[in-house]
Amino acid sequence: MKLLIPHSKPFLGEEEKRACCEVIESGQIAQGPRVEKFEKRFSEFLGMPQGVATSSGTTALHLALLALGVGKNDEVIMPSYVCSALLNATCATGAIPRIADIEPDYFNMDPEQVRKNLTPKTKAIIVPHLFGFPADMDRLLTFGVPIIEDCAQTIGARWRGKLIGTLAEVSIFSFYATKVMTTSEGGMVLSKSKKLIEKIRDLRDYDYKKTYKPRFNYKMTDLQAAMGIVQLEKLPFFIQRRREISSSYHNEFSNLKLGLPLTKSNPQAEPIFYRYILPIKKNRKIFEKNLYQRGIACTPPVDKPLHRYLKLSPTNYKVTEEVFKTALSIPIYPALTENEVQKIITAVKKELVKME
Ligand SMILES: *Cc1c(COP(=O)(O)O)cnc(C)c1O
Repeated sequence: MKLLIPHSKPFLGEEEKRACCEVIESGQIAQGPRVEKFEKRFSEFLGMPQGVATSSGTTALHLALLALGVGKNDEVIMPSYVCSALLNATCATGAIPRIADIEPDYFNMDPEQVRKNLTPKTKAIIVPHLFGFPADMDRLLTFGVPIIEDCAQTIGARWRGKLIGTLAEVSIFSFYATKVMTTSEGGMVLSKSKKLIEKIRDLRDYDYKKTYKPRFNYKMTDLQAAMGIVQLEKLPFFIQRRREISSSYHNEFSNLKLGLPLTKSNPQAEPIFYRYILPIKKNRKIFEKNLYQRGIACTPPVDKPLHRYLKLSPTNYKVTEEVFKTALSIPIYPALTENEVQKIITAVKKELVKME
């Protein structure tokens, strides 16, 4: 077996190591000054007035929903083609999830399908910007319902020149090991609304409160924040490198008869290419296995669409069903060496030509 190029891998170095060692030596390892500094630096990076760091993207989303007043008997709209974290955070509030199909060309939620799912009970819409591609915010913002931008896969991308995560009521981020930047596990909520942020800050931990109500322990630690501060300094390089690799892939793959690009975006969008997706119309399993044997780990980017979890009729989710059956994600991340990028290009081309 040849050395395997993993599907995802964090970009970590001496700087992260040193930052974490300093935290251990300081004796202050739980939530403290470094979390505060990370909140400040991260919100500044996006040009937002304030942020609250959390233990994960899921807990960030849970708190954002609660701060918007989402609860029992409310409805929350979200897309079908996304991980189950959205469903978990929504169900934890007691609200009912309403699932919308995605747009044919762009992976993201179809505003027309959102409109069909609107009811008087709709309290919020969760809009993930999937795979590094901004969703159609122009149309999604017209419904007059609070939007939570889910930027777990998309930091630094722009819509009409404006940064994703700054366009709606509130936005959430994930710093899980395989995301755009990492704190191992971690998350963040940003909002222009001071009131919303204060609510979220209050719900994040339980000590030193005047009155009782159910609260959580969703805190980030200084150990995680120290890593995050270093990663944030590297973020412009991470984004640039993702764009470079995707354009190398594009140049090599776009003249093959692949039905490319699945990796295209709205003309108003500047994506960051968190994922690079190949549409493998036939024998995707075999294609995946062949690449694995060439030393490259690929994977379908979403393991199970939400309408399937909820056992909703697949006829209402035609686009998701098609993408679910054909999409294959190949490695794209800043920790890839140029050698590895070339190896991936060669192997993918050989396998694609075999399929033609
Ligand atoms: C990863 C992810 C989440 C959840 O983040 P965790 O930190 O793993 O809890 C939510 N939404 C999207 C789109 C994600 O990719």
